[in-house]
Amino acid sequence: MSDNSAFDPAHNQSVARLFELMRRVNSSTDTYEVLGEVAGGVIELGFGAVALSQVQGPDMVTTYCEGPPGLAETILGDRQAVRFWVEMMDSAEHWGILRYIPHDRELPQWLKETSLWTPDIAVSDDPLDWHPDDMLIAPLYSATGELLGTMGFDLPPDGRIPDENLRELLELYVVQAGLALSNARQRDDLAERVRLGETVKGVAMAGTLVGLDSTLDESAELMTHGFSALQTWIRCFPEGDAGPQEHVAGYPIPNELGGGIPGLRQDLARSAWPGGEPVQLSVDQEDCPALTLSRATLQEQMRQLDVTHVAAVPIGVGQEMLGLLVMARLATPGEFNERELVAVGDIARELGRIVLNARLYERESRLVAELQELDRYKSELIATISHELKTPLTSIIGHVELLDEAELGATSVKAISRNAQRLDRLITNLLNYSSLQEKRAHVRRPVDLDDLCRNSVELLAFQAESAGISITLTPVSGGAVVSGDPDELGRIIDNLVGNAVKYSRRGGRVDVGASYAGDAAVVTVRDTGLGISQVDQSHLFSAFHRSSNPDALSLPGTGLGLAISRRIAELHGGDITVESEFGVGSTFWLRLPRQARLDSAS
Ligand code: ADP
Repeated sequence: MSDNSAFDPAHNQSVARLFELMRRVNSSTDTYEVLGEVAGGVIELGFGAVALSQVQGPDMVTTYCEGPPGLAETILGDRQAVRFWVEMMDSAEHWGILRYIPHDRELPQWLKETSLWTPDIAVSDDPLDWHPDDMLIAPLYSATGELLGTMGFDLPPDGRIPDENLRELLELYVVQAGLALSNARQRDDLAERVRLGETVKGVAMAGTLVGLDSTLDESAELMTHGFSALQTWIRCFPEGDAGPQEHVAGYPIPNELGGGIPGLRQDLARSAWPGGEPVQLSVDQEDCPALTLSRATLQEQMRQLDVTHVAAVPIGVGQEMLGLLVMARLATPGEFNERELVAVGDIARELGRIVLNARLYERESRLVAELQELDRYKSELIATISHELKTPLTSIIGHVELLDEAELGATSVKAISRNAQRLDRLITNLLNYSSLQEKRAHVRRPVDLDDLCRNSVELLAFQAESAGISITLTPVSGGAVVSGDPDELGRIIDNLVGNAVKYSRRGGRVDVGASYAGDAAVVTVRDTGLGISQVDQSHLFSAFHRSSNPDALSLPGTGLGLAISRRIAELHGGDITVESEFGVGSTFWLRLPRQARLDSAS
């Protein structure tokens, strides 16, 4: 700076303004206010136009300008790749930290194609006059040398190319603008660290809530806020038939995706597990090796929601992938940065631990409930068996005593025999029942249910006839073939037909038949007997259950037949169902998976 300039009042005013600016840069938290003042200072130096661009992800975006009408409309919001700017500044004339690009300099192609603002001034012959196509810009760096933005100047004072003095002053403003951006970046950085740290901590705290659903709901909400996301979805996979159910959560939209995005689970299991590194996808990304199966569907959903970026990550512990987490963001704030992705990974691991604990707790509770039920059942069983054994024994003992009193002998022997048979029946059924409780695997061979029905009808024909009950078999052509143990399946049909005859009145009818129905082979046993009340139907298949109907109770029975039958049916992958009307009759269906091919039965 020349000595003379120290006495130049305009110069002194600039220095005073700079001084004030430096103070404000270091104290103000409003970056845009400070940048406005920097621009104002440059305008006061005599420049007609000034613009500011900031690095946003891979782009440089023009965010601020002051100048003649039309300037803002042309350049505000302009977005170019950062590397273009760097390329352009490298090719410029270096004036200290300023970059001057004379109008006659060869420009990169992209710049020629960009619709730039050109001031409306005449071209002069004087080489020291500012040309409308001249450019003066300055990169803005952080303290660590990171490019944060650029500042551009046009319409210099007096229409002249800035001299040394003016450049020096301009540089001072550029430094202040760089500092303001640098401070803002540091503040944002700190705020982001705090925000992400709080979110991770919040999710860990949510793990102490009662019930996995509440934890997941709370976590989804925390994440949507903490990551400025549009939406967060969490899904924990079900664990087999008997295991924990699928748990889902979503915020603000509940997770209604049911089975989720097709292929996403497989994609993440292959590309991001174990390890649990988040995968990021943008809406127009054409290739994503990590999400080969799910990319297209995911992008379709993203378009529907106006989402530009999603981050997806597996949830799990150790080698076990237990679920997945998806977060979606709009164009602002757009892409998830490195630090955010690390935090997403941390949260997924935290959720993994929470889900595993919840599963263990769920399993334990179920086991305790099962054990309690078993315990209750055992006590009940012991009481019932004792009672069932005691009744005929008491009768036997009574009649043995009566035998001493000579003439009642014959009646007593009959009663003893009847009760001994009852004991025998009970013990045989008990042995069957207990052996079935242990049983897992059993004989498997083609069995024709039609044959078994015929055997049962033949077996019970005499009993039915003497009780005055007609029993008919509806044969099925080609048979009804299933795979299983013929003795055990025969036992079910004997029991169903036996009951139908036993619980029918004189003149009643029993119809038996087997047939195919879809994937199943079905045995139908229909009677016009006593029928079963609704209340009794609900306990029909429990061990030792006998109807409350006195007519049925007066007939001999142990209440074990149907419990045994259903157990056998279940071991064969089938079931027994009933429809009955009290006083009208009952129909029982034994349903078993049909043999895959009919001819394989032969
Ligand atoms: P049990 O016949 O030895 O008592 P089950 O387990 O075979 O034992 O049957 C349980 C109860 O269900 C019977 O006691 C009877 O009250 C009722 N029941 C079963 N089948 C029929 C039927 N066809 N008609 C009416 N009641 C039936």
